[in-house]
Amino acid sequence: MKLLWSDLFRTTLFKTDASGELTWQMLDELFAPWPHVIAMAGILLTAAFTLWGGGGTYAGLAITVAVCHLLFRWAGGQWYYRRANRQNPKFWMNVFVWSALISGAAWGASIMLLLHGATPSDRYLILTVACVIIQSATARAFMAPLPLIGQTSLLIIQIVGVGLYHGDWIIAPAAILFAGFQLGHMRSLIRFRLRQLQAEAEKDALLQQVARTNEDLRVANELLHKTALTDVLTGLPNRRALDRWMEAHDPRRDPRLTPYSLILFDVDHFKPFNDTHGHQAGDTCLAAIGDALRALPLPQDHLVARYGGEEFVVILPRTDGQTAIGLAEKIRQKLAAIEIQASGSSARITASLGVATLAAGATDDRSRLLMKADTALYRAKQLGRNRVEHEDPDLVMA
Ligand code: GH3
Ligand code: MG
Ligand code: MG
Repeated sequence: MKLLWSDLFRTTLFKTDASGELTWQMLDELFAPWPHVIAMAGILLTAAFTLWGGGGTYAGLAITVAVCHLLFRWAGGQWYYRRANRQNPKFWMNVFVWSALISGAAWGASIMLLLHGATPSDRYLILTVACVIIQSATARAFMAPLPLIGQTSLLIIQIVGVGLYHGDWIIAPAAILFAGFQLGHMRSLIRFRLRQLQAEAEKDALLQQVARTNEDLRVANELLHKTALTDVLTGLPNRRALDRWMEAHDPRRDPRLTPYSLILFDVDHFKPFNDTHGHQAGDTCLAAIGDALRALPLPQDHLVARYGGEEFVVILPRTDGQTAIGLAEKIRQKLAAIEIQASGSSARITASLGVATLAAGATDDRSRLLMKADTALYRAKQLGRNRVEHEDPDLVMA
């Protein structure tokens, strides 16, 4: 990534794409009091030189300014760390900008006073300490370049000013040169910072895309699953769904499901119905059967499915033969009441129903149950259609 000098100004805390948590982490760093405590130690050390050199007044003034400033930054830090409102980083960024500028002015004033009161040879020692303070500010500048450039400038201006005032032709160029070095240093740090932020933004975008794709896949899968188990014409569960359901509700594995009844029915004379009214009307009829079955008040844990063609199945766990016969009769009546508008007139259908039941505690397998229901259905057809037959001929409608 190519870094322009203008990036120094672009990457302030205010303008980065930094995520909320990252912004707070940076603010935590920027409000830390330790750099100021160390700078204070440096000021005290250099004040000793000024004091010994006879500039006691200036040393005292410099220490007073430095102490007041340290107290100011400490109070600012306390205010920040004990803040109640975590939702407003912009406010704290503004507080930081003003604090940074005040620090630049205050450290600059202290150093200026120390330089002014010191002997010419001691000034170079004081300048060294000032450079350390500048260094500590620029080391953190990648987080907020603009305010920290402002802070450093305020320091440099005052050092250069006092150098020129005393006609010292080393201090001013040395301070400017050092500031130049620091600017280069900051530029490298900012380049790394920008790369890091860019990588983070790309990572976030990729993660979001993965989350979106996952969600699309989940929805598509759900739809696929539903489609694979649903009969298109009637909207009822299809044969595959029936097999799965019976597998999951197997009375051999769970005897508590017994008595277990099954109704198998077949539309009567459906071939002639198709031949007379057309295949389209036949489809409408099957869809109407689906609607009628869905509207049935069946007990919980039941399943109604299209078995294939014009055959349907109703499975009733925890239902005895007598109750199942009653339900089958209700279905028969409901189907007989369906009216299909076909070729300008209304047509009706009937169905024959076969019922089979596993008695309580029985361990017959479910394919045998289906076979028995089929036998009962065959008997219903034989006995004239449009009727209900149970595999156990002794069981009749109550
Ligand atoms: P039975 O009373 O003995 O059951 O006579 P049937 O005419 O109903 O028996 P058959 O098995 O000969 O005919 C079943 C008919 O069901 C034949 C087939 O065209 C029709 N059929 C099966 N599936 C569909 C479908 O999805 N749509 C339409 N319109 N007809 C279907
Ligand atoms: Mg049939
Ligand atoms: Mg039929």
